Amino acid sequence: MTQDDGSLTYTLSANAYTELLARCRSELPNEACGLLIGSNTNHAIIDGVLPIKNVHPNPRSAFAFEPAAWISAMYQLQVNKQHLVGYYHSHPRSIPIPSTSDSAGSPPQAGAITLIVSFFTHEPVIRAYWKPSDEWLPVELCIEHVQPDNKQAD
Ligand SMILES: [Zn+2]
Repeated sequence: MTQDDGSLTYTLSANAYTELLARCRSELPNEACGLLIGSNTNHAIIDGVLPIKNVHPNPRSAFAFEPAAWISAMYQLQVNKQHLVGYYHSHPRSIPIPSTSDSAGSPPQAGAITLIVSFFTHEPVIRAYWKPSDEWLPVELCIEHVQPDNKQAD
């Protein structure tokens, strides 16, 4: 969602956060990738993830959606009356900054954001971006997860 000052804020629900981390961890040491799903009228809320097989020949440092899985995932969204909020992928060994190959990995889609889950540090770090033109710009992401010590999510 675009605010008056042009900045963007998205929310990652607790369930989507938990599943996102699990899906990305299960693909290590390869990059995981998939779709960020919304079923809310507020299109800035991510409340689900839909993993797609990474068929990039170099899956440890890049990703590419498996085409048939991508098509069936988009169909499934329509059937379930959900919508595409954006894409996610993981960086198993690097910081959560878009790489040069990231632009090629996900199909262009107006308004779609990109989440990067980095396992560079002990605690995974998630960052969000969008790409209105040639440049990746940061998107503010609120993560609705509950931690035992009630620590505020970054
Ligand atoms: Zn990347």
